[in-house]
Amino acid sequence: MWLIGAVARKSRTASWRGNFLIASVFLLALLLAGASWFATTTAFERENAEASRDHAFAVLGTADEIEIAALNAIRGERGYLLSDDPEFLRPLNDAKLRGRFLIEQLQELVADNPEQAASAKRVAAEFNALIFRVDRIVELHRRGDRAAAHKRVRNAEDRDAVETIVADLQRIERYENSRLAKRTLIAQKHGEANQNYQYLLSGVGIALMILAAFAVSAVRRAVAAEARVRSELRRRAMTDELTGLANRREFMASLDRAMASARRSRRPLSLAILDIDHFKRINDTFGHPAGDAVIRTVATTAVDLMRGQDTVGRIGGEEFAIVLPDCSSADAYAACERLRLAIRAADLEMETGEHVSVTLSTGIATFAPNDTAEQMIALADAALYQAKHGGRDRVLLAA
Ligand code: GH3
Ligand code: MG
Ligand code: MG
Repeated sequence: MWLIGAVARKSRTASWRGNFLIASVFLLALLLAGASWFATTTAFERENAEASRDHAFAVLGTADEIEIAALNAIRGERGYLLSDDPEFLRPLNDAKLRGRFLIEQLQELVADNPEQAASAKRVAAEFNALIFRVDRIVELHRRGDRAAAHKRVRNAEDRDAVETIVADLQRIERYENSRLAKRTLIAQKHGEANQNYQYLLSGVGIALMILAAFAVSAVRRAVAAEARVRSELRRRAMTDELTGLANRREFMASLDRAMASARRSRRPLSLAILDIDHFKRINDTFGHPAGDAVIRTVATTAVDLMRGQDTVGRIGGEEFAIVLPDCSSADAYAACERLRLAIRAADLEMETGEHVSVTLSTGIATFAPNDTAEQMIALADAALYQAKHGGRDRVLLAA
């Protein structure tokens, strides 16, 4: 019973540890998938932040240049007004062209953002308004109406227009900067989360590896113990407890194997059946344990005297059988005679201090290819029966 309990306990231990191993592998796979996901999103956010930065730099640079173009337009206008030198109209005209080009560029850059696009559109309109005013002041001056031109300058019509442009450009810049800051923060957070996850992954990985090592060694131990218990169960199923000889079932199996082999090899094979004479008397006189001791002595003597390839089995209470492969009836007879004489000569001392002598009767059957195991046993049994009736303490060959 304890053996069955032990097997069940061991298999339960092995099974939960096996489940633990599977769960560990599954958890690791899950964590690795998580790591890939974290790495991918972090890379994605970093790329986003980099693209945002490039975009913000482009927008800020363009806005700066628009401001410079607007200021250059005024500088040209004022220079012309002060010096009457048409040379000053060149930077004014350059600023017009450059400013329009830059505003188009800015509009393209912010086209995907409605708020920024609206601001850029306003900048375009304001720039046109500035150019309109500057052109009018220049025109008044060229026509000789200097007073009117100067009055407009004094009123700072052109300056006001530039300041409106600058205010809108600053709004665009502020927006762009805050968007960049947000993106950078997100990327930073993702980076930190990714790093923490990698730490966690390493920690869990190491812990799982240690646990898995423990589990593997425990599983190995459990499997080895289970194998030991099973082999013990198998051994017990095959052997006779009192003598350690093959029990009846195992003996019959080895007889079958020996007969099959003899059939194939056409080699001789003998079977002997032995029975202790008047065994009942020993039991009755000295008790059952003494009888057991006699049975064990007969068993060990038989094993000692027979060859290595012979199988000795206990097939009944005080009844033994021996398979003698590759052994003619004459050789089997000689071997059984040796055993008979050895048992007879054995000095068996009982617990009471008395010495008893034990004898054996033996019947031998020789293998014929068409015989079945049952027929061989019946033949040997018949010879044994005759040995008993012929006076016991003898070996007889089956007729
Ligand atoms: P015979 O010479 O005709 O064989 O006489 P016997 O007394 O040996 O034969 P019988 O079959 O009448 O008695 C065998 C006895 O063996 C009966 C049984 O109590 C005893 N016996 C059977 N198994 C065991 C055992 O394991 N241990 C002991 N001590 N005795 C056993
Ligand atoms: Mg008997
Ligand atoms: Mg007997």
